[in-house]
Amino acid sequence: MVDDANWGIGVAGAWLNYKRIPVLKDALKSLLRTLPVAASLVLANFAVAHAQSMIRDAEIEDTLRFYGEPLWEAGGLNPDDVDIYIVQDDSLNAFVYGGQNIFFHTGLLLEAESAGEIIGVMAHETGHITGAHNARSTDAIRSASNASWVALGLGVLAIAAGAPDAGVAIMAGSQQVGALNYFAYSRAQESSADQAALSLLEKTHMPADGLVSFMNKIRDLEVMSASASNPYWRTHPEVGPRVAALRTKADILNQTATPFTDEYDERLKMMQAKLLGFLKPRKAYYRYPDTDTSLPAYYARAVASHKMNDQTRALDQIRTAIEMEPENPYLYELEGQILFESGRFDESIPPNRKSVEFAPDKALLYVNLARSLIARGTAEDNEEAEKLLHKALVLEPSNAFAYTQMSFALGALGRKPEAELATAEAAYALGDTQKAHQFARRAMDGLDRDSPKWVRADDISAITDPRLGGNRSGGQRPGFAPEISFHGNLTAD
Ligand SMILES: [Zn+2]
Repeated sequence: MVDDANWGIGVAGAWLNYKRIPVLKDALKSLLRTLPVAASLVLANFAVAHAQSMIRDAEIEDTLRFYGEPLWEAGGLNPDDVDIYIVQDDSLNAFVYGGQNIFFHTGLLLEAESAGEIIGVMAHETGHITGAHNARSTDAIRSASNASWVALGLGVLAIAAGAPDAGVAIMAGSQQVGALNYFAYSRAQESSADQAALSLLEKTHMPADGLVSFMNKIRDLEVMSASASNPYWRTHPEVGPRVAALRTKADILNQTATPFTDEYDERLKMMQAKLLGFLKPRKAYYRYPDTDTSLPAYYARAVASHKMNDQTRALDQIRTAIEMEPENPYLYELEGQILFESGRFDESIPPNRKSVEFAPDKALLYVNLARSLIARGTAEDNEEAEKLLHKALVLEPSNAFAYTQMSFALGALGRKPEAELATAEAAYALGDTQKAHQFARRAMDGLDRDSPKWVRADDISAITDPRLGGNRSGGQRPGFAPEISFHGNLTAD
């Protein structure tokens, strides 16, 4: 916390792979089901009077899904319907919000001593989902105005859509954040989620000791920090007795569990190296001295050096890491990011191309490569970028950032009406119906009538028509109900 206290200032721009988006540390709503687009969208919580950031990172998201998918399947959930969100916050917290959306604070990810601890928390959260628990909101939350909720929801929506800059702008428009407060599950629900967690771990034959050791950590925090302002006191009643009950059952489960393979903790180490390097580069220098020749250490030093503007060292470290693991897509992704953010667009293309080659199912990697190509900017580059962005949008249909890049590529190719349609799509994905309507109308003027793109523009134009309402307060998305529906919390309880 001491180091990098102001890290948000210098780096808030466009990280390629590592996008920070101010979001509110708090409450939200269930936009989801009302949206015509894919699954994602979501929400945030845990009120504090300042803005939060969310992080998108293909590698970390993939690791958390790798941990969670067996549990979701065991709980009868479709993994495709479960979304993972990463909140940049030092506290040990995780929660469920808005249906099947699980949020992890970076503090929890960094402090976890084993993959089993994260998996234990994941099992507990999954228990809140399968138990359909509705958290109780506090009076402070209930009294916040609908307008504030709408603004919050749109910001979250923007984040989910992968459009950090828009997210920043929208979140800044919310005036009442300071009025928000926490919400919490009942003890009965916590106990129920614990039982569900044990059951899911048993079904998947995963060890349960990580769940117990994590709960122990939370209990210790409770004991040490008696401040009434500590959210743990409000949201995690009775952790002590729960730990005792968990331990007894976990010991029994562990006798028949299959130990985690090395891959579980190897992934954890890479995730922690990356997070620490990005979030606390000075601390990463201490944690990973040059004498440490492990892959995570090279990774952490590469990231930290990049954040500290030592591109030479960053490239040296990441290239050594690549020699150690030459088919790891995320090492190439980082090399591409370092080069791109150093203005070496041309050189950033080959590593970004490698990352896509080794991980062809990650939308964010396609967007990275497209962005490098667009920055170099030949006609062939822009044509290839269009194809790559199309692939990204198949994987993440509401990714506004991909649509924005698409508008750049098409604009550079002189295909103005199509570029306008892409801009309309981006605005629509962000809930800015006014802009979506305006650009959809412009696109229609230039597109061949009744062509598929004209029809799409016509659809956007119709659904965002201000005469049909639903276009209040700077662009509310159609079907965006203002009531709040809390679905979960859990501070790592
Ligand atoms: Zn809970």
